[in-house]
Amino acid sequence: MKTREMQTTLFYPDEAVFEPEALHYDLGKRLYDEFQARGVTLRTAPSHNRLEVAGEDHCQRFHHAKRMVAVGVKHSLAPQPCRPSADYRLVLNTSCPAKCHYCYLAATLGERTYVRLYVNIDEILQAARKQIKKQAPDVTTFEASSSSDPVAIEHLTGALGQAIEFFGQEPCGRLRVVTKSDHVDSLLAVAHQGHTRFRFSVNTEEIVSRYEEGTASLDRRLAAAVRVHEAGYPLGFIIAPLIIYEGWRLEYAELLDRLAASLPPTAAEDLTFELIMHRFTQRSRRLILERFPGTTLAMDTRDRIHKGFGKYVYEPQKAQELEGVLRSYIYERFPHAQIEYFT
Ligand code: SF4
Repeated sequence: MKTREMQTTLFYPDEAVFEPEALHYDLGKRLYDEFQARGVTLRTAPSHNRLEVAGEDHCQRFHHAKRMVAVGVKHSLAPQPCRPSADYRLVLNTSCPAKCHYCYLAATLGERTYVRLYVNIDEILQAARKQIKKQAPDVTTFEASSSSDPVAIEHLTGALGQAIEFFGQEPCGRLRVVTKSDHVDSLLAVAHQGHTRFRFSVNTEEIVSRYEEGTASLDRRLAAAVRVHEAGYPLGFIIAPLIIYEGWRLEYAELLDRLAASLPPTAAEDLTFELIMHRFTQRSRRLILERFPGTTLAMDTRDRIHKGFGKYVYEPQKAQELEGVLRSYIYERFPHAQIEYFT
């Protein structure tokens, strides 16, 4: 079938570590049985937060961790803010199987980049409901992708589908999802009621092929975006990280041309864009160079300004040029699009 041929391989770990408490939940038991049947190495540990990862150096441990999952119970349920993309984070899982060189999340997680699957999804959603009720009749938005790519691991838990359905029933709640995966098909028939905006993270062919290991190709993401639109979801794109390199203007123009050529005209009627320029910290730079010793990702502090909290971004003149060029490219092709922010 064409759709199947177009999809990337589903992720299954080599090793899964279970908190004993997770086995009191149906999802925990189901994951245990499924991993056991697949021959995944299983062990238990008291907490998903502090697992030892095998490997002689950071590079080995990083690549090993990306083949591991931890199955646990999420105890910190108080909603955390998530500006500028939403009011709050909705954390259904942490980390993802892909290896984008620039991933801010992988840098924040340090040695603990293994995928964490939380089994108490009902409790996580009830905490969101409490917050929605508190702010009603105002609409409260939640970001499901602030700590992972939930679509890339949806086949393991079904948690995102459950959350989409939950938000479909919440008159004052809205969900936002971002992905670089094309495994959207299990979500197409979910009763979303238009309450979940599905965004695809895209970039130039050069950046996708050089720095986004283990993600779906651009063509596959765009084909998935069309399926999501046809299923009635509001659609959007995040272009991130925006990187200045030789030929960047032409290649971002080509990216926007590909979007325009791929999407049906109806998609352009309600389309959002979010623009995020590349940033790094001294710590993330060190970790990236250890994990990907041959990376060509530019991280020279002499090209950037220090923005506070250890972050380096393009200096104002370059940032303004990036923003101006991207905005004009988008509006030339999608005059009705909403550019939600540039940061
Ligand atoms: S897909 Fe997203 S979360 Fe996963 S490695 Fe890439 S940037 Fe990080």
